Amino acid sequence: METTRKSIRKQSLEKLYNLLSASRKVYAPVIAPDKQVEYKYNPDFAEVTFEHIRSTLSVKNVVFPKVENLFFYSNAKTESTITDIDLNKIPEIVLWGTHPCDNAAFDILRSIFSWDINDEFFSKRFEKLVVIGLSCHLSDEYCFCTSVGLTPNSAKGSDILLSRLQNGDYQAEILTEKGNGIVTLSPELFEPISGEEVTVTEVKQKFNHEQVTVKLASAFENRFWIENSLRCIGCGACAYVCPTCACFDIQDETKGKNGKRYRSWDSCGFGLFTLHTSGHNPRQVQSQRWRQRIMHKFSYMPERNESLGCVGCGRCSSGCPVDMNIAEQLEALQNI
Ligand code: SF4
Ligand code: SF4
Repeated sequence: METTRKSIRKQSLEKLYNLLSASRKVYAPVIAPDKQVEYKYNPDFAEVTFEHIRSTLSVKNVVFPKVENLFFYSNAKTESTITDIDLNKIPEIVLWGTHPCDNAAFDILRSIFSWDINDEFFSKRFEKLVVIGLSCHLSDEYCFCTSVGLTPNSAKGSDILLSRLQNGDYQAEILTEKGNGIVTLSPELFEPISGEEVTVTEVKQKFNHEQVTVKLASAFENRFWIENSLRCIGCGACAYVCPTCACFDIQDETKGKNGKRYRSWDSCGFGLFTLHTSGHNPRQVQSQRWRQRIMHKFSYMPERNESLGCVGCGRCSSGCPVDMNIAEQLEALQNI
């Protein structure tokens, strides 16, 4: 669909938000008491922040929950009964105020969850998702979207993209049919564009991702991985906060005769991630796990999924307890 540009007054945004949250699950950013930015379902509009740089956790849980039941089972003497999850009960979710890097990540997740087979759990949640994005007018030293082919006002992944105008109102780019569906709920809130300039932050490019990908093709045995991962403690936080990391574990949990099979987030940073039942571990040391993380995102994914596995949100660096900075490492890698 052709993009339409409208403007929406600040007061009208509140009306739109209230209209949506009265009838849908709206997931919006708020500043928690500990000053961390987190997404909550249907907070009051007064709580919703428009001034965040990044939330501590990404919003990938709306399409890939931290823990997700796959089916329930019941064991009788001679047979077991399986009860499937009714995916038609998954509700529509409106994401409000997510930044362009996080919105672009949905396309990367889609490429992972449909690469070999179509993951119907992911697909159904993705189908029910409507994204009202917000361009970035703020950034910090951890942001590097411009190094991975994005910008602070990329429209990729948004159904509507809001961008702050210099007079405090917002430009609304209506990008998809889902976005158009939101507009038709209250078309009078969307007015003709005023000619005001949008306010978008500048994010300095730190590396060239194409050069990094070329360099990685011959860097598997390089000492770079050992030298640059010695302080990594393998906590896995970088994967848990990442909007594009999609590894999961599958477990059965049984109580008496009944149980459930579920999947939960996992991380290639954990030593146990690749441990075989035999005791052999093909990634025995942390440098091999760190190499895997970078290789997967900047070499294997461009080859297999035709996209990078990183949107430059900077969460893994800002959240790492020992200051491993992925952008600095990619910049160094480019020059080895
Ligand atoms: S890079 Fe940092 S966040 Fe990631 S596993 Fe290592 S110590 Fe944890
Ligand atoms: S690897 Fe780090 S910077 Fe890249 S998308 Fe994941 S959390 Fe963000």
